[in-house]
Amino acid sequence: MIAVVTGASRGIGAMTAVCLARHGYDVAINYRLSEEAAKKIERAVKHEGRQALLVPGDVGNEEDAKRIVSMTEQNLGPIDVLVNNAGVTEDGLMLRMSDEQFVQVLNTNLVSAFRLSRLVLPGMLKKRRGRIINMASVAGIYGNAGQVNYSSAKAGLIGLTKSLAKEVGSRNITVNAVAPGLIQTDMSAKLDESLIKSIASRISLGRLGKPEEVAGLICFLASDEASYITGQVIEVSGGISM
Ligand code: NAP
Repeated sequence: MIAVVTGASRGIGAMTAVCLARHGYDVAINYRLSEEAAKKIERAVKHEGRQALLVPGDVGNEEDAKRIVSMTEQNLGPIDVLVNNAGVTEDGLMLRMSDEQFVQVLNTNLVSAFRLSRLVLPGMLKKRRGRIINMASVAGIYGNAGQVNYSSAKAGLIGLTKSLAKEVGSRNITVNAVAPGLIQTDMSAKLDESLIKSIASRISLGRLGKPEEVAGLICFLASDEASYITGQVIEVSGGISM
């Protein structure tokens, strides 16, 4: 079984790559810049007894996206699981947000998932099996001041997830979204302190989440046990919304 995880050099994606390897997947590890970190995850996947393949590239770039998928198919085989995890933030209040800031965040977080899903679908349709897991966020459900670009992208991913799930369900391909709350990674470390405080005050479990706590859900959604779950948005947020 073959999985591709975008943005797998650090944070949630890195833990997902290792978790999938532990569950028997050979893993294509995508990253954009952090080569050393990606190599560490490559070693961790191999340590689990699985094949690892580094597939560098910017998921927001069409040519790179094609290369990520073709390299994986040529070197590992037909893709069973795609985890659209790579994401970026570029926060700022709407009045001061540039077009570029808005479009770039949409491109990396949302357009990339559209393109990569379209690229892996023919193979999944042929096999009549597949799993696509999109990394949304609670920001895409509830919104966050200072994140209209990011929230729009994550809300868009939720719409993409539900519509695609309806398109491909009859072919035994499931499409789900995971919506983390505040997880301890490089991404949350650069959030505005006031935003962290406001989110943290709403967490029922009273602490930030760990990347492996999100990875665990992704691995479950990739597994046979999750074969009757599709089109869902599942929060891993410590109970932010109750
Ligand atoms: P992170 O620690 O900042 O890691 C981001 C990963 O994405 C890195 O591996 C990075 O690669 C990769 N990446 C960024 N832009 C890329 C691009 N254009 N092409 C390919 N790879 C790219 O982030 P994280 O916190 O683990 O977040 C992972 C996902 O979870 C994101 O989609 C994020 O929006 C979502 N999320 C996170 C939180 C949270 O609190 N952390 C909450 C909700 C949702 P390089 O190392 O090469 O830069």
